[in-house]
Amino acid sequence: MNDKAFQRCIDPDCARTFDLLDVLSKCPDCGNLLDVIYDWERLDVPGSLAFFEERWAGRSRPLDFSGVWRFRELIPFADPDQVLTIGEGQTMLKRADTLAPFVGLDPGNLFLQYEGLNLSGSFKDNGMTGAFTHARMTGATRAACASTGNTSASLACFAAASGLLEAIIFVGSGKIAYGKLSQALDYGGRTVQIEGDFDDAMARVQEACDQTGMYLMNSLNPFRLEGQKAIMFRVLEGLGWQPPDWIVVPGGNLGNSSAFGKAFIELEQLGLIDRVPRIAVINSTGADTLARLVNDEGLEWNDGRVDDAVIDRFYARMDEQDRRARTVASAIEINRPVNLKKCLRTLDFTGGVVRAVPDQEILDAKAMVGRCGIGCEPASAASVAGARTLRREGIIEPGERVACILTGHLLKDPNATVAYHSLEGDELADQMADFEVKTNEFANRPVPATNDLDSILKAIEEGG
Ligand SMILES: *Cc1c(COP(=O)(O)O)cnc(C)c1O
Ligand SMILES: [Zn+2]
Repeated sequence: MNDKAFQRCIDPDCARTFDLLDVLSKCPDCGNLLDVIYDWERLDVPGSLAFFEERWAGRSRPLDFSGVWRFRELIPFADPDQVLTIGEGQTMLKRADTLAPFVGLDPGNLFLQYEGLNLSGSFKDNGMTGAFTHARMTGATRAACASTGNTSASLACFAAASGLLEAIIFVGSGKIAYGKLSQALDYGGRTVQIEGDFDDAMARVQEACDQTGMYLMNSLNPFRLEGQKAIMFRVLEGLGWQPPDWIVVPGGNLGNSSAFGKAFIELEQLGLIDRVPRIAVINSTGADTLARLVNDEGLEWNDGRVDDAVIDRFYARMDEQDRRARTVASAIEINRPVNLKKCLRTLDFTGGVVRAVPDQEILDAKAMVGRCGIGCEPASAASVAGARTLRREGIIEPGERVACILTGHLLKDPNATVAYHSLEGDELADQMADFEVKTNEFANRPVPATNDLDSILKAIEEGG
């Protein structure tokens, strides 16, 4: 199958191609991102998406059970016996009628794609199965990443569950997302704590991979994005193969938004959809590079000829001002998104938009998501806060169908949740001083009671 898939530089003036099994992060000629490209003419692609429904009957087979690989004809870079799956992608699209009024949508029109149900608790598993499969095809025995977040949790989870590769995780000693680090440790990933920050860890992991031949599971990996396309296949599946009007997704390193756009480009090319949803990418105002570049600087895909000077100028100014990403939504606390150009392609193809939402609105939206019985981590709630913003602006209409992607589980990052619900006034402001969170309109406060039944019954009846 290998000769029907290859890698190609996204820059149309370069367009250099590479073998499927080459392990590269970027085009060695021009430094641009790489795509996985398929020779669809020579591949066996189903005539309609409903074809995939027959896979549901085969759930005892790992490939058909996987929420990624049961769509394998749309991700055809690996032979079935090469695929490394641990049962990722068992997620759901939930109609959220109780949340629709908060967002400003008519009942029946808001859907939440809950990716917290993945084995490691975030959408990253969709991509990790793709990259692990590629790593195995290349003969790798060890895979490494620098991350204090969900990527390392997912990597360690895959290594442990498959037993086929060893996970090496580099973390800086600065900001470590504790809940996520606990996963890497518990799954048995070899966790190297480096004296330095995340950027140091990232630089060292690259050097270590160069020197030892470890497979680098970084955010540039195009095979991760291949797996993440499946999130869109499942959203379509949840809607009976009818594309929604909008997909709203948080934007950090912009891998998801890039993968979603590629999914729709290919689905349209294959004649499997007749309408493309618009994709809204939501930054936090504390890490809003994409929003600024697109909305203020007018940066565009421009048929692949992105104006690098605009990006360079923007980053130079950011360095000059020593502007650091800072947001309560730690998973999107990124100021130099590596998949920027691919995301521009998504926006171009889907008629997409970008917005930045403040941390206050992210945590308010998160509390409202919780009331639906689906908890999510702060970054995930940016999608719901963003949909609400776009509704308020009249960009999204109340009668349009909107799918918000909830990227990670509530329990990933419980500190902000507990602070939001239990603190008041100055205490809350103090705890959240870094994040511009001052109020908690949707808090569900724990009710104090003395240790006697009367007090407890009173607390139950009267609440906080
Ligand atoms: C990684 C991550 C994001 C950001 O996704 P990108 O693909 O990097 O834009 C958002 N939310 C959660 C929970 C994540 O783990
Ligand atoms: Zn190139």
